Amino acid sequence: MLDISNLSVKINNKDILKDFNLHISKGEVHAIMGPNGTGKSTLSKVLLNDKRYDVCGNITFDGVDIRKLPTNEIANKGIFLANQLPCEIDGVTTADFLRTIINNREDKNISLYEFIKKIEKAQEELKMNKDMIHRSINKGFSGGEKKKNEILQMKILEPKLIILDEIDSGLDVDSLRIVSENVNNYIKENKDSSVLIITHYPRILEYIKPDYVHIMVDGNIKESGTYDLALKVEKDGYDSYKSSASIVGDEIKNE
Ligand code: ADP
Ligand code: MG
Repeated sequence: MLDISNLSVKINNKDILKDFNLHISKGEVHAIMGPNGTGKSTLSKVLLNDKRYDVCGNITFDGVDIRKLPTNEIANKGIFLANQLPCEIDGVTTADFLRTIINNREDKNISLYEFIKKIEKAQEELKMNKDMIHRSINKGFSGGEKKKNEILQMKILEPKLIILDEIDSGLDVDSLRIVSENVNNYIKENKDSSVLIITHYPRILEYIKPDYVHIMVDGNIKESGTYDLALKVEKDGYDSYKSSASIVGDEIKNE
């Protein structure tokens, strides 16, 4: 489904990803774990062609080269990104935003009645307040409410590939469980869909079980394995994966 090969990314002449490779097949759940500043969010943004980065390498999705496609076209092909820091959009309600997207897709058109039924069901399943979809997107939402609003969008837009960038940060224990249940139900109902979970902590992986875990340090995957690798990292930390230069760098930053 998603094939990333020899991907290198720079911003302001600073190397962030270096010769990065990842392959995700239909129906698989992958997790990328890594310390702060290692390029995880950069990867997710580059997959949706954020123009701020200088990129080389290949990204194909369902066999199509998507690296230079506009973000909306990539999204319409079925890639969904739940942002680490969802932005606030004043003056556009979540309901209007989602209905406009659906009605602008070539193959879908949904009546207002069907749409309201669908979004209200999704809201209930996420235990969100009913008025939230009629408020400006994320405006005045708490951190956790913003994260749930990302998952609401996922449920309505029905992507093939779901990228969750630190969906667990800002969520309390109950909300983390609810969000995870919703993602799990989605992948159960959409067997061909795949998930890429980006996180620091293995906790979310107790709820959404990954088929593969990748450890990403200094802009590259250093080791891949199964869920046990996440537990090993929880115990031992990331230091053994870091180059000595980057450990010294961290110490200087911490001082
Ligand atoms: P992660 O999500 O793994 O915590 P990010 O992908 O957000 O890391 O960031 C990777 C690195 O890129 C960080 O060191 C960050 O400071 C750097 N970075 C991001 N944006 C810029 C920028 N505009 N200029 C310089 N460095 C940047
Ligand atoms: Mg990040």
